[in-house]
Amino acid sequence: MGWLDNTVSIVTGGGSGLGRALVQRFIAEGASVGVLERDAAKAEQLGHDFGDRVHAVTGDVSSYADNARAVQETVARFGRLDTFVGNAGVFDYFRTLPELDAEHLSAAFDELFAVNVKGYLLGAKAALPELLKTRGSIIFTISNAGFYPAGGGPLYTASKHAVVGLVRELGYELAPKVRVNGVAPGGMKTELGGLAATGTEQVKLSQMEGLDDLMRSISPLQIAAEPEDYCGPYVLLASRANSSPMTGVVINTDGGLGVRGFTQMAGGEAL
Ligand code: NAD
Repeated sequence: MGWLDNTVSIVTGGGSGLGRALVQRFIAEGASVGVLERDAAKAEQLGHDFGDRVHAVTGDVSSYADNARAVQETVARFGRLDTFVGNAGVFDYFRTLPELDAEHLSAAFDELFAVNVKGYLLGAKAALPELLKTRGSIIFTISNAGFYPAGGGPLYTASKHAVVGLVRELGYELAPKVRVNGVAPGGMKTELGGLAATGTEQVKLSQMEGLDDLMRSISPLQIAAEPEDYCGPYVLLASRANSSPMTGVVINTDGGLGVRGFTQMAGGEAL
């Protein structure tokens, strides 16, 4: 018996990285999963890998029509919708304000916020009528960048702080019928892409030299986590039986960045 038996979820950006790990884990927990994914090849691969437990729709989260199509097709295929996971995202590759060209700044902001913030809002709007029917829930992927500086540049950091705001506002507005929560993972080696406006569209986080060592060195738990390591809190939040009193909260799952302190780790050697 799984925690999500006989439920139906949608995961945006389910074609790779964390989204794909969520698709796999939700299916293992008994759910059927719809996916909205921009990359057609990744969407097609999901069908090969997960068969009739997944319904992948190719489209862009920054389009309301594409979100609505994903909801409509998922409900037509699986009969209901219990959880909407907003997860598709893009990255600013740590470009600081001094490094960002003035001529590209406005376009870079619009491009990043269109996916990371507007995409979540449009998805929630499209899913809401179905979630009201099932008393379902919304989960947004945030990031350590939703809480602390230096998890990106100002564009990414502001976008993830904005999603914390969406969790709180929508948690308030949609109660008591629909719960709205967030998960804020730490770093992981994925294909997270950059922005056309800054010429980093084809860059992937997985190409970054020394990323695993960096993640280990900054987290108290000294881990370089994989996408699979971050899925548990999503299962908890999607499970009515295990989280029915929870709304408007964010679960930080980042190796303990919030207890990093001012010195090098106290434990380690001593423990
Ligand atoms: P990823 O690139 O492997 O996965 C994101 C998926 O979203 C990709 O399949 C991509 O094709 C898709 N996508 C991108 N833009 C889209 C759009 N406009 N419409 C539809 N699909 C789109 O990257 P990931 O690291 O798994 O990112 C997933 C989420 O995790 C993002 O919200 C990201 O900000 C967040 N996150 C990532 C890290 C990290 O270190 N990788 C850390 C914390 C949070």
